[in-house]
Amino acid sequence: MGRKIIITGGAGYIGSHCVKRLGELGYEILTIDNLSSGNRWAVLYGKLEVVDLADNSRIEQIVKDFRPDAVIHFAASIVVPESVQNPVKYYKNNTENTLNLLKILVENNVDKFIFSSTAAVYGIPESVPVGENSPLMPINPYGRSKMMSEMILRDFSSAYGLRYISLRYFNVAGADPEGKIGQAYKESTHLITRALKCAKGDFPHLEIYGTDYPTRDGTCIRDYIHVTDLVDAHIVALEWLFQGGESEVFNCGYGHGYSVKEVIEVAKKVTGIDFKVIETERRPGDPPELVADCSKIKSKLNWTPQYDDLEFIIKTAWDWERKISFPSSQ
Ligand code: UDP
Repeated sequence: MGRKIIITGGAGYIGSHCVKRLGELGYEILTIDNLSSGNRWAVLYGKLEVVDLADNSRIEQIVKDFRPDAVIHFAASIVVPESVQNPVKYYKNNTENTLNLLKILVENNVDKFIFSSTAAVYGIPESVPVGENSPLMPINPYGRSKMMSEMILRDFSSAYGLRYISLRYFNVAGADPEGKIGQAYKESTHLITRALKCAKGDFPHLEIYGTDYPTRDGTCIRDYIHVTDLVDAHIVALEWLFQGGESEVFNCGYGHGYSVKEVIEVAKKVTGIDFKVIETERRPGDPPELVADCSKIKSKLNWTPQYDDLEFIIKTAWDWERKISFPSSQ
């Protein structure tokens, strides 16, 4: 029998890729997901409990019954503009639910935890690539809700002996190279997904949000990481904790970035479709350049990415995008 892992948000985009990988590796998995944005069909291994993290008594019962060796916590709300409109939702779903989950875990002697954090905790970084010790200055409630969860983790670690790894994701993209799962949000705001939906004809055109940034071509630069490499970061983080490693925070990116225009060019090449592109105003709160210094996770956890190739990332996303026809719910 493999080690037992609870994965919150295991029916979502990144969570479902993690469930697949852990399932392939022989872990015993229990997914907790309220299916607000996840999909039942995306959970390829283990059991799925459809429950909201705010339902503390059910969560506690699940933890008592399953007795996990570790928890990977993906479940969260992730749309930045929505967090500005509705901060209550973000502080509840992200910060409060994380606090309550952690409380249940320490009370039940579960002491290993992996947390989905985000580059949004850095806000607009003073310099790039951004190292883990850069100041945390999030500029929206989403980033703040995640930063607060990181602070709670630090306090739980020193007070209760919880050991955790916080992974700060940069721009996650792509899909399972075997084509079994991929991103399945009805309303994705992310650049690569939107570009592919334009190529597919779901949208009449793609908007570029700002062409006057101080970057090589005037558009924003991001560090796009393939979802499978990101999942591997969770696997090595889990192994680190199982081997007795101490709590740590790691950036997850490749250490170099592409501009919006460069992404569009590759998307056109991969799809073979010259979709329409319109240059518009800046989107509020976008840092000009966000690139990870990923040397820490490479040296400390020996994380070795396999898919540092924008064309491959977009190709896997495109193969998936052509397979699914949304909207559909579960
Ligand atoms: N972007 C864009 N058009 C779109 C979606 C995104 O120009 O339709 C830009 C956005 O302003 C940012 C970059 O693409 O500079 C990546 O945005 P995304 O929403 O994918 O990720 P974020 O970096 O905001 O997490």
